[in-house]
Amino acid sequence: MINFKETNFSGKRVVMRVDFNVPLNAEFQVTDDTRIEGAKATIAKVLKEGGSVVLMSHLGRPKGGPENKYSMKHVIPALQVYFPDVKINFADDCISEAAFNMSSTLKNGEILLLENLRFYPEEEKGNPDFAKKLSQHGDIYINDAFGTAHREHASTATIAKYFDKDHKGFGYLMAAEVENATKVLHDSVSPVTAIVGGAKVSDKIQLLERLIDSMDNILIGGGMAYTFIAAQGGKIGKSLFEPDYTDLALKIIAKAKANNTTIYLPGDSIIADAFSADAASNVVASDNIPDGWMGLDIGPVATDVYSNVIKASKTILWNGPMGVFEFEKFANGTFSVAKAVAEATDKGAFSLIGGGDSVSAINKSGLESRVSYVSTGGGAMLEFLEGKELPGIKAVKE
Ligand code: AMP
Repeated sequence: MINFKETNFSGKRVVMRVDFNVPLNAEFQVTDDTRIEGAKATIAKVLKEGGSVVLMSHLGRPKGGPENKYSMKHVIPALQVYFPDVKINFADDCISEAAFNMSSTLKNGEILLLENLRFYPEEEKGNPDFAKKLSQHGDIYINDAFGTAHREHASTATIAKYFDKDHKGFGYLMAAEVENATKVLHDSVSPVTAIVGGAKVSDKIQLLERLIDSMDNILIGGGMAYTFIAAQGGKIGKSLFEPDYTDLALKIIAKAKANNTTIYLPGDSIIADAFSADAASNVVASDNIPDGWMGLDIGPVATDVYSNVIKASKTILWNGPMGVFEFEKFANGTFSVAKAVAEATDKGAFSLIGGGDSVSAINKSGLESRVSYVSTGGGAMLEFLEGKELPGIKAVKE
């Protein structure tokens, strides 16, 4: 595998997998360009050194054929903002003869953007013939699409077979994601604290099991907390509950104890009489929730306890909200945790916000610039933290 930073791309044509799966509004304008900005430095390095870049990505979930609403062409104006002086060419089919004509005559300093890879079902199937065709768009393959690294698709994994080790590597974004996650898991300064929340225990069991090995503290919040509380005999009303996971929850508590990892569950909860923004609410002990009520946020005492643990930590990982933060009334736990993470970071802690809804929570709180690293890869980051080898990473390393 090449060292991207140390490679000079003068005169080289790079076929680069990026994650431009960005949200579009009804006018097909990009409403959040974080992922484009994420790939900017990687693209810019190749262009600046006198190379050219063939960009490939998927967008949305097309049903296996071209659909205007998922066309990659909608991304061009947002990409142009970051490369105002660069010519961006567009191929309206990623493997047509016209596309290969465009890539083979691409001038140094220019970009060619290929049409949505998922207009071909072969992409998600990891089809070798399709991957081989894509590989012919460049001399060097660079994967900078961390957000899809957990998928074994043609452009994220299979394609790497068609390049030898001196002609493939990771871009800056991919390298940063891996480096930061590795720092939290294997190269951390104690006390190390993980904050794990979100809706379901079933989604986070593997993460929790794995984190016990590397964390001093695990703060559990969100809907998943109630399966733990019920497993210990608590009364949780109609809070989220996964009865099939009570044994595993108890096992995790026992494993943590044996490993000197402290697991925190919220002592109190903000409860609601319905799952809605304007439900009636109250504060009660999390193991004594009345029938017909559900816990939708950690309570004020738990919020204090969690904030203090976070502020005393030197390394912090956050995955998943503490409550239904989409409803203002039940957002306090999540935003207080965000604030505590920012304060700890101000004092020198290293903090990684990894995975889905905690990323949108930190952005919504406006504190994203006060944490060390916000991951761009929801599912991919979760799988990486679970200790799985991501196919997109493995393929390039082989
Ligand atoms: P996840 O994708 O697993 O991180 O889950 C995030 C979702 O969990 C968010 O949409 C939250 O609204 C939801 N959530 C968090 N806490 C609760 C709760 N106590 N009850 C129901 N849903 C919750």
